Amino acid sequence: MAVLDQLTSQQAIDLENKYGAHNYHPLPVVLAKGEGVHVWDVEGKKYYDFLSAYSAVNQGHCHPKIVNAMTQQAQTLTLTSRAFYNDMLGKFEKFACEYFGYDKLLPMNTGAEAVETALKLCRKWAYEVKGIDENEAEIIVCENNFHGRTTTIISFSNDPVARKNFGPYTKGFIKIEYDNLDALETTLKSNSNVAGFLVEPIQGEAGVYVPSENYLAKAKALCEQYNVLFMSDEVQTGIARTGKLLAVDYEQVTPDILILGKALSGGVYPVSAVLANNQIMKVIKPGNHGSTFGGNPVAAAVAMAALEVIKDEHLAENAFTLGELFRSEMNKYIRTSNIVNLVRGKGLLNAIVINDDEESDTAWNICLALRDNGLLAKPTHGNIIRFAPPLVMTEEQLLDCVNIITKTLQQFESV
Ligand SMILES: *Cc1c(COP(=O)(O)O)cnc(C)c1O
Repeated sequence: MAVLDQLTSQQAIDLENKYGAHNYHPLPVVLAKGEGVHVWDVEGKKYYDFLSAYSAVNQGHCHPKIVNAMTQQAQTLTLTSRAFYNDMLGKFEKFACEYFGYDKLLPMNTGAEAVETALKLCRKWAYEVKGIDENEAEIIVCENNFHGRTTTIISFSNDPVARKNFGPYTKGFIKIEYDNLDALETTLKSNSNVAGFLVEPIQGEAGVYVPSENYLAKAKALCEQYNVLFMSDEVQTGIARTGKLLAVDYEQVTPDILILGKALSGGVYPVSAVLANNQIMKVIKPGNHGSTFGGNPVAAAVAMAALEVIKDEHLAENAFTLGELFRSEMNKYIRTSNIVNLVRGKGLLNAIVINDDEESDTAWNICLALRDNGLLAKPTHGNIIRFAPPLVMTEEQLLDCVNIITKTLQQFESV
């Protein structure tokens, strides 16, 4: 078969099964095209995308402004490495620092790399600024976290599937319950070697767990009191997804270290970044950290365009308004439903909890039926289905989607 032959869905699935490592369990649908809030499969069937590549495609599929920035830059200069300067990186760094309100940015490619960067930065700050004894620094993390897939990050995961048989694990992490300020305070009080607190403002992968109001603001205040860095992993919640530019903006919190990825590029290219002020970022010196592709000219051009689209098209405001509408429409349905227990979320990062045990395949079967009805979503954990469409959706489209979702759920009510 020639590389350019048009495959059927089944052929594409068979190829992945035969030649690809089985590290994912995709919903059986093979996508060949995307535009805005829609994707099309190989056979030409059109769907609403209700996952947005885990919130990477907030700006919509193939946004012309972002694709244009990429193709222009790709024809001019793609990669220099950081052995030399390039004429795009500084512009991007200035643009993003002013956009998010920080002194400095460190560019990487994937979310996991940005989290690793934050952890290294936090540890180095702890030894060189806070004065913790060598190799004694501890970082507090939360139960049911998701921060990526590297050896160190899975060391402090408590998902057995992500962790088992990947040991030995990296030391230096203390796990506490999410949304528990007493646990945070007790740990900070009893341990003078704590360097930082790493937290997701909403736990996305875990099932869109929204913490209590003021949790983030109070956690930040505790971190300040104990001279500990508050690190916000906004890889999934950031860049307008939750109805504000950042999810921490709901509580006027400025993280000491801000971690971004996914929608920083609008999903057209891997771009991630860590932002911090000078008194923290100054500990990073030449040779301490880096990445061949981090900060390349294409990434810089793409990220600036992606961030401009967020403001130009008022995507945070749109996510806020449509999110309220989505939850209120879903709640109307849930009042009389036996199959859905609740809807929760902020902006357009939402999830419904299916009334069945975690091991059941009801949520998976609902996602298959949603697919058949023209909408793509996927269970996060067991009985939870995440709904995260591109933020360029219109009200009319959202109501159409609510209709598809409630009609599909209806099919499962009597089962
Ligand atoms: C997706 C995600 C990551 C990891 O990003 P990758 O680009 O997949 O490495 C880290 N943190 C959060 C909160 C995420 O949602």
